[in-house]
Amino acid sequence: MKVFKFGGASLKNASAIQNMASIVKAYAGSPLLIVVSAMGKTTNALESILNSYTKEGDYQAELSTLKSYHFTICENLFADPEPVKKKIFSILEELTENLHTPGDYDQVYDQVISLGEVMSSVIVSSYLVEQGLPCQWLDARKHIITDTAFREGKVDWKKTEEHIQHLKNDLQNHVLLTQGFIGSNELGFTTTLGREGSDYTAAIFASCLQAESVTIWKDVPGVMSADPKRLPNAIVFDELPYTEAAEMTYYGASVIHPKTIKPLALKQIPLYVKCFDDHTLPGTKIHECKVDKLPPLIVFKDNQCLLSCRVTDYTFINEEQISIIFNALADLDIKINVMQNSAISFSFCIDFRESKLNHLLDRLQQYFEVYYNTGLTLITVKNYDAATFDEYRKKPGILIEQSSRSTLQILLRA
Ligand code: ASP
Ligand code: MG
Repeated sequence: MKVFKFGGASLKNASAIQNMASIVKAYAGSPLLIVVSAMGKTTNALESILNSYTKEGDYQAELSTLKSYHFTICENLFADPEPVKKKIFSILEELTENLHTPGDYDQVYDQVISLGEVMSSVIVSSYLVEQGLPCQWLDARKHIITDTAFREGKVDWKKTEEHIQHLKNDLQNHVLLTQGFIGSNELGFTTTLGREGSDYTAAIFASCLQAESVTIWKDVPGVMSADPKRLPNAIVFDELPYTEAAEMTYYGASVIHPKTIKPLALKQIPLYVKCFDDHTLPGTKIHECKVDKLPPLIVFKDNQCLLSCRVTDYTFINEEQISIIFNALADLDIKINVMQNSAISFSFCIDFRESKLNHLLDRLQQYFEVYYNTGLTLITVKNYDAATFDEYRKKPGILIEQSSRSTLQILLRA
């Protein structure tokens, strides 16, 4: 069996969904499980609704925009849109109810934000059925079981595998369609797997079902050597080893969610990244392979923050002080993207998130003089050659530069 994943951009309006259905029809001859994201920018819209509600602002207008967005898609897709609109309506009622149910922020977040995927899966599965496909809607929350951490649920592989096993029979005569990004914990609450986590969902189902492959359908022709919006000369890779793809995601390449590669590599399941607009293009195959001389791969990561912790008592930066910094980072679940030390200071770059930064500053200012800059861009050049090495080191506004045998990183003012 195969697993397909369609992201928000490939389901953003009725014609995109029609295109998606034509791709599914072309492959539906053999067993297929489909994972869908929320439509278009729905997840961002839901976050905004939650934030408006939390700040006691008016969220009704935003909610009604979200409702119209989904209703319009239904009206453009179905001969009789009313039955599907009814289902969307009741999901939105559930959303309002969840918004008003007391609980800590992250818990409410998951109960509300997860409904984007639920709405999307209801519309798309109904459309596939109308198109004559033997499609069956599946509740991912009953199959993907996580721990009790909200917003970054960790998968309980044993329980998840037990649940997913039972789908093998259904797959013989149904196209199963389910939601990315969401699961549930043992207390019965919905959990989410982290933003952009639908790719990971596809990998989880594929791993538990020992799929023959996973295909992520995207609005780009495959995995590229850089974001083509930034670097129009970027090229498409025909194939990439798992390790290379995993490292790209580590440096911030957003083409695949970072957690996707490991479960697939462990079971040697190939991952295809293919073009949604032209499914005849070959795309990229990520699998166990050796590629001689990969061209330089360039990853841009915006919205970075550089912190420098300076000791103030004429001692040098030592291991004890570094451990204070690392403990604070570990406690706050903050990842370092690049780091550097000098005699009296330790500098590191992290993704900018205001509330996390404030907590971190509170911790570190007890021990150090802390300086920071925001609005920076981290550029990673993997597998650099002489020309790219020179080109990127000459960029203006560099605050940190670091290179190893294969990778150059520069942090600069955007
Ligand atoms: N809808 C979720 C998000 O936008 C998950 C995903 O699309 O992968 O983060
Ligand atoms: Mg995505």
